[in-house]
Parts: sequence; C-alpha cells; structure tokens
Amino acid sequence: MANIKLQPPRGTRDLIGEEFRRHHHVIETARRIAALYGFEEWATPIFEDTRVFARGLGETSDVVSKEMYVFQDRGGESVTLRPENTAGVCRALVSGGLTQSLPRKVFYAGPMFRYERPQAGRYRQFHQIGAEILGAAEPLADAEVIACGHHIIRELGLDEGVVLEVNTLGDAPSRDAYRAALIAHFSANRDKLSEDSQRRLEKNPLRIIDSKEAQDRALVADAPTIETFLTDAARAHWDALRRHLDGFKLPWRENPRIVRGLDYYSHTAFEFVTDRLGAQGTVMGGGRYDGLVEEMGGPPTPSVGWAAGVERLSMLLERGGLTPAAPRLVTVIPVGEAEEGAALALLQSLRAAGVAAEMGYRGNLKRRMERANKQGARAALILGEAEVSRGVAQLRDLDAGTQAEVPLAEVAARLG
Ligand code: ATP
Ligand code: MG
Repeated sequence: MANIKLQPPRGTRDLIGEEFRRHHHVIETARRIAALYGFEEWATPIFEDTRVFARGLGETSDVVSKEMYVFQDRGGESVTLRPENTAGVCRALVSGGLTQSLPRKVFYAGPMFRYERPQAGRYRQFHQIGAEILGAAEPLADAEVIACGHHIIRELGLDEGVVLEVNTLGDAPSRDAYRAALIAHFSANRDKLSEDSQRRLEKNPLRIIDSKEAQDRALVADAPTIETFLTDAARAHWDALRRHLDGFKLPWRENPRIVRGLDYYSHTAFEFVTDRLGAQGTVMGGGRYDGLVEEMGGPPTPSVGWAAGVERLSMLLERGGLTPAAPRLVTVIPVGEAEEGAALALLQSLRAAGVAAEMGYRGNLKRRMERANKQGARAALILGEAEVSRGVAQLRDLDAGTQAEVPLAEVAARLG
C-alpha cells in the first residue's frame, strides 16, 4: 500500500475549505428560499431500481442511454446511481401512497451521478438542488416554481449574469405535428447532419434542435419552431405562463431552441443560462412533466419542476468574489497547566452560549497567541493565575488590538 498514490475518482471532487463553504452556501440559501415558497424537503435514496430511470424502450435521452451508473448488486438486482432526482421524487410519491393529497411542493439537495467526460462544470459526481410541484396542471404552478428558482439565484447575488429563457414543448398532439415537420425539414438534408443527429432523426428529432455540434447548428437555425403547431390548449398554457411570469415580475426571454435533456417534458421548458461559464452555461433547468408519475404506476399527476447544478452556481459565486468568509472563532488560552481546568470551563460556557470557540492542545502563551492570529481568530481570552483567582479573563480583541479585563460571567455576552 505504501507506494500507491490514491486520487479521487475521475470526475469527482473533494469539497474542502472555500470550495465547501460556497457549496454549503448555495444549498442553505436554496433551502431557506424554497421554504418561503412552501416547499418541504425530501431526501430519497442515492440509488434506485434501474427501472425508475429507464422506463421503456423509447428512451432517447443522453442521460439514460449513455450516462447512467448501472450495476448489479450482490442479490442480482439492477440498480442505478441516480442521475437526477425528479424520477426518484415521483417514485417516492407513488410508493409512499402520497398521491391522495395534492398538490405537494418538494425541495431536494444532494449528489447525482452521470458517466460524463469530465471538464470544468461537468463532473461524474455532482450536486443538484431542485424543486418540484406535484399534482398541479395550472400554468401558475410553472410560473411559481420558476419564481422560486429566480429568487434563489437573486439571493445568491448571481442574477446579473444569469438570464431566464423559456419555451413551450406543447402537448402531445402539438409535438406530434411538430415532430413530423422537423423530420421533413431535416430529412431533406440528412447527410449534412452529425452522426448523432442522424440517429436522433427518427427517434427524437426534437433533440436535434438542442445539438451542440457546429454542423447541426446551421440546419437548426432555419428549422421550423413549434409555435405554429400548438393546439389551442397548448397555446393557452403558454400564454398563461408568460402572463404569470410577468405577474411575478420576472425578467425572461423566449428561446424556441430549449428542448431539455430528459424525455419526459411537455408544455413549459426553461433554463437559467449564463455566458460566464463557457460551454457549461446552464445553471438551472426544468419544465413540466405531466406523465412521469403515471409511468411510476401512480394516477395522472401533472407536475413541474427544476434542478440546478450546485457546482455551477458555486463557480459563479467564486468568479463574482462572493465566497462566504470562514467563521471566526474565539481562542481560549490558559497561561499554564494550572489554569487548564478554568479554561475548559470557560470554553464550554462560550459554546453553550452559542459562541464558536476553541482551545489549542499545547504551547506557551506566545505560541498560542501566534496560532490564534494565524487562524484568524477574532478574540483571545487569556487566563493566568491572577485572572483565575479573581474570576476574570483578559479579553483581547485581535482586530482592534485592545485588551480588557472581563468577569468570567460576562465574557459570553461581550462576545455574542
Ligand atoms: P447539460 O446540457 O449541461 O449537460 P443537462 O440538460 O444534462 O445539462 P439537467 O439534467 O437538466 O442538465 O440538470 C440540471 C442542471 O444540473 C444543469 O443545468 C447543470 O447545472 C447541472 N448538471 C447537469 N449535469 C451535470 C454534470 N455532469 N456536472 C455538473 N453539473 C451538472
Ligand atoms: Mg447533460
């Protein structure tokens, strides 16, 4: 073992120091804002029965067809590390018998796994926050879930560089008509399409719209948009969504090219995008998925939601100089061994009062002061023989450089 150089697995990262603080800040902020909108947090398993994600032969998304971590467990069951959490939430709704009291608003945060080619902003283990409104067909639900996502981005201080783009994918009849028009358009130029897109042509031509290949982009540019193929019902949903987005006072723009990576969306599709992260510019994405709960064996449960990449939001925080500061502690310093008992009592009384404090394990006064300064402590509490006998401590403010004698009973209040 001694000669082995162990590394984190490809596409995974250790979250330490600043990195962890940004990550934690994204999740805590999202959790707090989602609660303001009435979302309750759920935690579902990190692995699921593979059928939760791969639900039929028609599956064409990259996530399900190429990116999943699938394996057989020791009992021979096929399980999959979750690549996303919407399917897990829908599975939980059904298996928990929770489809009786709808709508429900669910928030989640946690790791997801996709076998991708790692690059900045794209990892094999990454983290998402997400929000779902289950059992509401009204376009107002679409607008509210988007408003919540926007609020989180704004609360993080990132709204300036991030734009909300919305689109409609219509209902099934609209999409069938649109699909036929796309097949006609692309078939005429079949050999100019990338290999991937030629494959998509029959199975899911909508995905070509979303292609990142340069050779597809030209053909996509003059492809028809869905607008003219919308049924009256689909158009009504689309109109109402845009009206409600204005009602929530959200800035948004239309982007007919948004189709989203997963197969289950209908009507609303949206993304929050930035030009500050290169190719990995989508920080949050989502849409309406009216058939998914039914595919899990539940009753018809029209739903809408989004997921956001914590790493990508975190990168934006870093670039914007928005990394949260490390917490600053108070250091308790016993001058000699004889004062250690009194110092421990003081240390614990501070912690009990909610003041973050620590005491080093060794060293004389000079060493301990040096260490307190190096660690960025905000104050030092020095206890010598004279202080202990009189029930006081020397409180040194390490920013101001001032020192004062404070009765032990008053120390916590002074530092609170
Ligand atoms: P992309 O087009 O970037 O691959 P996607 O359509 O696959 O995104 P979704 O499945 O909608 O993404 O996931 C929602 C969000 O999760 C993305 O907008 C992104 O911020 C984040 N995300 C997705 N895949 C990864 C990954 N491999 N590493 C880091 N973040 C990711
Ligand atoms: Mg992807």
